[in-house]
Amino acid sequence: MTLTKETYFSPEMMRAYMSVSQFKTFEKCEYMGVAELRGEYVRPMTTSLLVGSYVDAHFERTLDLFRAMHPDLYKRDGTLKQEYKQAEQIIERIERDALFMRYMDGEPQVIMTGEIAGVPVKIKIDAYHPHRAIVDLKIMRGFEPLYVPGEGRLNFIEAWRYDLQGAVYQEVVRQNTGETLPFFIAAATKEPVTDIAVIRVPDAQLAACLEIFKANAPRYQLLKDGGAEPVRCERCDACKITKTLTGIMTMEELNNIE
Ligand SMILES: [Zn+2]
Repeated sequence: MTLTKETYFSPEMMRAYMSVSQFKTFEKCEYMGVAELRGEYVRPMTTSLLVGSYVDAHFERTLDLFRAMHPDLYKRDGTLKQEYKQAEQIIERIERDALFMRYMDGEPQVIMTGEIAGVPVKIKIDAYHPHRAIVDLKIMRGFEPLYVPGEGRLNFIEAWRYDLQGAVYQEVVRQNTGETLPFFIAAATKEPVTDIAVIRVPDAQLAACLEIFKANAPRYQLLKDGGAEPVRCERCDACKITKTLTGIMTMEELNNIE
């Protein structure tokens, strides 16, 4: 099987290549990473995620396919459900802004592969501008900083590790083309009135994130290959589903839950 738009998210390709989202899952919980790979755990699709996917599909020019795959988006009379009307509103807002559209106007959904720290990696770029830029579209709840346990308040790019995504994208593009291109996040919000921004993630920050990827990816690859036992966090959904109590929790342990 070869890596294409159709096979990109297939179990085979998830096993063959590490994606940034797979890396993030392992980072969150090793057990969840392995469970997802085995098909024992499937991340739930929420309305909020679907709004983002709808906007993505529009700019990927695959909205017809997306609609066919999600008939639940529509009411009996064929009109879009209220929750998803917001997606249309976000698209309209983005299309009204010339600068935003210029950044979105690259080659859509460009797939590339590379190897980082000996680990095969796959990426899918939302808007690729050869020799010029790498752009990723994000639909956010808002632009305000978010609280991350153990880290404090972080801007949304750092909180969601989009800088790590940029680091891997920049490196894989460099391996394929020999060029180090700037990485931009083109973002719009799901607020009642949509906000928009295009943000450049500094190269120094991308370089720092790439080191984190290089440091941890080999361990996650070992887990993918079944060469080590995954550590369980006992807090994520994959762990909760398969949890067996082995003792009594102390009040102190309860107080320390983040
Ligand atoms: Zn877990």
